[in-house]
Amino acid sequence: MNKAYKFRIYPNKAQIVLLEKSFGCARFVYNYYLNKKKELYNEGKTNLTYKECSKDLTQLKRQKEYLWLNEVDKDVCQKSLRNLDNAYKNFFNRIKKGIKPYGFPKFKKKSGKNSYTTSSTSVRFEGKYINLPKLKKVKCKGYNEIQGRILSATVSKSKSGKYFVSLSCELQENEYTRYHQTGKSIGIDLGIKDFAIFSDENQGTVQNPTFLKKYQKKIVREQRRLSRKIKGSKNRSKARIKLAKIHEKVANKRLDFQHKLSTKIVKEYDLISTESLKVKNMIKNHNLAKSISDAAWSEFARQLEYKSKWNDKIFVQIDTFFASSQICNVCGYKNEELKDLSIREWTCKCGVRHDRDKNASINILNEGLRILSK
Ligand SMILES: [Zn+2]
Repeated sequence: MNKAYKFRIYPNKAQIVLLEKSFGCARFVYNYYLNKKKELYNEGKTNLTYKECSKDLTQLKRQKEYLWLNEVDKDVCQKSLRNLDNAYKNFFNRIKKGIKPYGFPKFKKKSGKNSYTTSSTSVRFEGKYINLPKLKKVKCKGYNEIQGRILSATVSKSKSGKYFVSLSCELQENEYTRYHQTGKSIGIDLGIKDFAIFSDENQGTVQNPTFLKKYQKKIVREQRRLSRKIKGSKNRSKARIKLAKIHEKVANKRLDFQHKLSTKIVKEYDLISTESLKVKNMIKNHNLAKSISDAAWSEFARQLEYKSKWNDKIFVQIDTFFASSQICNVCGYKNEELKDLSIREWTCKCGVRHDRDKNASINILNEGLRILSK
């Protein structure tokens, strides 16, 4: 079992210089070989493999003008090549499966997400410090939660200028505890107005947290402020960091909300059934609120999935279209009128009165159970 941990680190000035160098090397290697691959592709030649790139990189690092690539942990360049290779593989996979957007690998920008990965065995904890190759001891937070053997570490910098480490760790069977089995199942319908509607009466409905709305106004205001600052000025970069900090705050709060809810659900239920986003998106309704909730749902589903896996619980995502909100969960009658999304409540011809979303969540549970029994 692999687990991932992310926590903040507090590098000193000298370490920051080295971190920035490492980000630079990772970015350079990625872009250099992406460019090579693109050139070859345009000439109609076959793709460069990871092995060929790796061999070429060894030569490159010996050349005088590229000697600076040797100043950082040697894993940095190698892992960056691996990332490029994975980006290509994902791209080809998406084409094969017809998943849009295909997302052709893009060049990395300095202003984008800065990160590098190392799998060196020298990554370890010493008190309140994490030991990273070349950097030596870096002050950190959250180290006491880490369990298992460290497989790799990714160091990153957020847009507001904070540094983080994400660790991927391997845990043995006896190294982690699981939640108890409860014998209970639940269906979850994810909505825009309410975040989640449950088939279990005891759970009630979880509304979308209001703090997001509050911060949304703040973001719009700061964005306007930023756009008025002169390009390249100190004030502009200050305004940019201020805006990035608010974005981060919102992202953290949202993540915290999702984690609390997904942990609660996985703790209380053995079987969790939801609809996949692919199904959700069959109802075309593209606007900002929709795209925000799309992102929130997929992160929530991702958490439910891995937490279920960690705790020997079952997570089902219904992948094929079935009219969860149109079918009466009691008699099975399909009411086509419910294609009209504004109908929130209805009475079936069998006499049962339904709340639209509640009924959908019960159907989602039943469909999940049906899939599993096949
Ligand atoms: Zn009915």
